[in-house]
Amino acid sequence: KKVLVEINHLKQYFPIKGGILGRTVNHVKAVDDISFNIHEGETLSIVGESGCGKSTTGRALLRLDEPTGGDIHFQDKDVLGLNKRELRKLRKDMQVIFQDPFASLNPRQTVRQILGEALTIQDVIPKEKRTERIQELLDNVGLRSDHIDRYPHEFSGGQRQRIGIARALAVEPKLIICDEAVSALDVSIQAQVLNLLKKLQHQYKLTYLFISHDLGVVRHISDRVMVMYLGKIVEIADKKSLFDNPQHPYTKALLSAIPVPNQKEKKERILLTGDVPSPINPPQGCRFHTRCPFVVETCRSKEPELRFTGEGHQAACHLVASGNY
Ligand code: SF4
Repeated sequence: KKVLVEINHLKQYFPIKGGILGRTVNHVKAVDDISFNIHEGETLSIVGESGCGKSTTGRALLRLDEPTGGDIHFQDKDVLGLNKRELRKLRKDMQVIFQDPFASLNPRQTVRQILGEALTIQDVIPKEKRTERIQELLDNVGLRSDHIDRYPHEFSGGQRQRIGIARALAVEPKLIICDEAVSALDVSIQAQVLNLLKKLQHQYKLTYLFISHDLGVVRHISDRVMVMYLGKIVEIADKKSLFDNPQHPYTKALLSAIPVPNQKEKKERILLTGDVPSPINPPQGCRFHTRCPFVVETCRSKEPELRFTGEGHQAACHLVASGNY
């Protein structure tokens, strides 16, 4: 499949200031040397507990935060080398939908103004065609086009998220980063919004990077899934392969925690003890070793590499690599 985004050795460290002089005394290693691709037309999900680096990765792609290291290519463009003007142009191709649409929509603007602004900034549509285009966008996301002059507070949470989606769509992007985009919604509304995202993907040939802590949601929407732990990729695979045949102990633990209806065999539950360690001084060797039920001596000193374990399936674990597990 054609690669839309290529990420190599991406690092995102946030400085921690301390002392009287406010010098940088340490760093939070939010994302620590990860490489992966996003294919055209797919939905790649990133899952993991909070603090694993999934949202930071999304923000780095958009350069909402400047990455500490690595490189990002969008089609053939070197994203980190772009100047401000070029970056504005790129933002037309890469849009984001956040968890809380209420926070990201200006309460004093009507839907017409919100979507109109998106169209003006990107300069994609002549003024006289704007109303027509806004109504078309509303229709596409399942909102009534005669609600064009309403304010965000006059809509429900699910409807507000649809406005957020319409705003992202307004500039005809290629990639949409959905950062916990349905996490704040009720389960029944979640399903409707996920189905809408799928419909729009098909209609506009969109690519999604879907960031979520919820494996149920990820299972519904993804083509491929990437699991992160403490700033590292621990496993990446096609959805079916990941859910049916997880390799990494952390993925197994995450999956064993979600109930599967009508399952014949009872799943073995892998309980994780302890909290996620601090990303300021992550554990040596395998970062998961402080919580891994299968830890062996090597894990404490040597960092496992991400290796292929099957077609399109990669995991970073010494036991998986040695076949002893
Ligand atoms: Fe567990 Fe070791 Fe594998 Fe890390 S490398 S996941 S500690 S078995």
